[in-house]
Amino acid sequence: MKFLIKLKAEQTTTELLDFNKIQNCLSVPEYSIALEIIETEKKRVEAEEELIRAKEKAEEGDCLKSAFLSNMSHEIRTPMNGILGFAEILKTPDLTGEQQQEYISTMEICGVRMLNIIDDIVDISKIESGQMNVSVSETNVNKLLDDIYTFFKPEAEQKGLQIYYKNALPANKAIIKTDRNKLFAILTNLVKNAIKFTKTGSIEIGYHLVATLHATSLLEFYVRDTGIGIQPEQKEIIFERFRQVSESITREYEGAGLGLAISKTYVEMLGGKIWVESEEGKGSVFYFTIPYNTSKEDQTAI
Ligand code: ADP
Repeated sequence: MKFLIKLKAEQTTTELLDFNKIQNCLSVPEYSIALEIIETEKKRVEAEEELIRAKEKAEEGDCLKSAFLSNMSHEIRTPMNGILGFAEILKTPDLTGEQQQEYISTMEICGVRMLNIIDDIVDISKIESGQMNVSVSETNVNKLLDDIYTFFKPEAEQKGLQIYYKNALPANKAIIKTDRNKLFAILTNLVKNAIKFTKTGSIEIGYHLVATLHATSLLEFYVRDTGIGIQPEQKEIIFERFRQVSESITREYEGAGLGLAISKTYVEMLGGKIWVESEEGKGSVFYFTIPYNTSKEDQTAI
């Protein structure tokens, strides 16, 4: 035993686990006690490492939340300052009707931006507290894509971007059972980002029907852009809540960093997966799947 304790004090854990070495030095009963102590020591070291990992994770979480709060404060203050600032300017006497209209429009844009942030915060809080439910109804995906396209066309064209969409199924096969609002929110987030992070080129929205090994089918949606792209090491973390690519990019493009986290949760609630393929400087394609839930006759007729 004495020998073992001396051995422990002088050697590292890895060396302690060198059973053959210890066996050569000890008699049989001492050897089994030694093994027991080594086992306990191993568990203690593992528990210690586990604690360190948990502490680091908690610290990282705190850090992310602080960064999120400071970013959120910036995101809320900017449109609020816009609204208050332009309200003040509107008090100026002798403004022309045209000037008044221009300032009111800016106030409206600021108001919409703030409402979007508040909606995102409410959604993420509902998700965190488990209060977000799936509400399934018959959804025409062709109609939904058309609505998204019509909604974003003016914004894309104003930026000089081309926008188009492709439907893969005929109208009678394009009706599925899913949560329409969540599908709409996912596509809205992706298209909004595609427009935001693209300076020139085009945005394409579409979907394909994909067969799986389990006699079920999936709809694979995509939103393709020719924008700034995403670095390989950022492809996973952009889907985590409170995470954005570098601070400088965020400041240039504005955003609370919640859209993709909300989209990922929604996709998973609908039974699918979301991922991105991207080349820095060339563009990105965001993909997500949802089950092709429709009546059996419709599926076999395809
Ligand atoms: P936000 O856009 O509000 O910052 P998101 O969660 O929607 O938050 O996106 C997180 C980050 O992912 C963005 O800040 C951006 O760095 C990156 N990103 C998302 N979509 C794209 C895209 N289409 N092209 C390039 N980067 C993107």
